[in-house]
Amino acid sequence: MQQPEPQSFDRVLSSMCTEPHPAAREAAERFLATNPGDPATYEAVASLEERAIELLATLAEHPTPTDAAGYVTSGGTEANVQAVRSARNRHDASDVNVVVPESGHFSFHKAAELLDVELRTVPVDDDFRTRTDAVSAAVDDATALVVGVAGTTEYGRVDPIPELTRIAHETGARMHVDAAWGGFVLPFTDGEWSFDDAAVDTLTIDPHKFGQAAVPAGGLLARDAAALDALAVDTPYLETRSQATLTGTRSGAGVAGAVAAMEALWPDGYRDAVERATANAEWLASALAERGYEVVDPELPLVAAALPRSEFDALREAGWKVSRTSHGELRVVCMPHVTREALRAFVADLDRIRE
Ligand SMILES: *Cc1c(COP(=O)(O)O)cnc(C)c1O
Repeated sequence: MQQPEPQSFDRVLSSMCTEPHPAAREAAERFLATNPGDPATYEAVASLEERAIELLATLAEHPTPTDAAGYVTSGGTEANVQAVRSARNRHDASDVNVVVPESGHFSFHKAAELLDVELRTVPVDDDFRTRTDAVSAAVDDATALVVGVAGTTEYGRVDPIPELTRIAHETGARMHVDAAWGGFVLPFTDGEWSFDDAAVDTLTIDPHKFGQAAVPAGGLLARDAAALDALAVDTPYLETRSQATLTGTRSGAGVAGAVAAMEALWPDGYRDAVERATANAEWLASALAERGYEVVDPELPLVAAALPRSEFDALREAGWKVSRTSHGELRVVCMPHVTREALRAFVADLDRIRE
């Protein structure tokens, strides 16, 4: 029988995942049968995970990366759920709430439901950034966490993280930055988003997106160990005493792949990838603008443009994996696998469709 083959990345324009770096693929395969959830048994992968956290903390500009706490999660969803859980567990009030911008990822809805916390959704401004006045109005004594997004899923926008952090801390809440996608792009921009830019408590940063690691490799980082301690439960049958992760057994492939990718690419490889992706996004944005479409200015390498439904459908039919924002705009994520050549072919197909 013929082996099933995964999809090719040639026409994938909507995914936030990408082709893993060869070193990540190789390391992931090598560590497939390891379980960082049981660090006393799987010691090699456990020490790789410490390395992963130190590297991620370096990317996220932690002032002393060796002091950062965290772990390699199954993805941004788990990291966000755990950030909400940690803040809830550390907050004094019983009926807590979490303030999230409407641009926040849907994982916060899962978190709110799972953890039985109230989600207070606040609007964004005309440029899709969280309105700080709305956050100020939404917080109260029962607010355990304020969330800011650094690189929104739909438009790649960065919220005003220092200002949101100030509001959070003044009201006695914790501050979480969701940089699941943006975390591997923002170190090469002048955006303010990191542990160094503000007194952020926790941060989501996913190696399996722009980090070019193999899935599953998300990341939860905390400024210090207290945020993780608030997640720990006793683990009677393991040699280690407690576990802060949400999953029990987890893939050592994610951990090993993340370390291999970061060691191969940080910082020059990632910088090159970001520069290429940014140039591609600008190229695509102007190609679409020249054809009369309304384009959202790509601040990070993510292009959104208003295309008629019929043209969008025809592009899908032509094999392009594109998606739409909640407002219906075409959304193209310029991941490392998205080449200029692919974008030229995409625009040529669009021209053909428009004839
Ligand atoms: C992708 C993404 C997530 C979710 O991450 P998964 O790895 O898919 O669970 C969360 N937040 C943001 C901003 C994202 O872009």
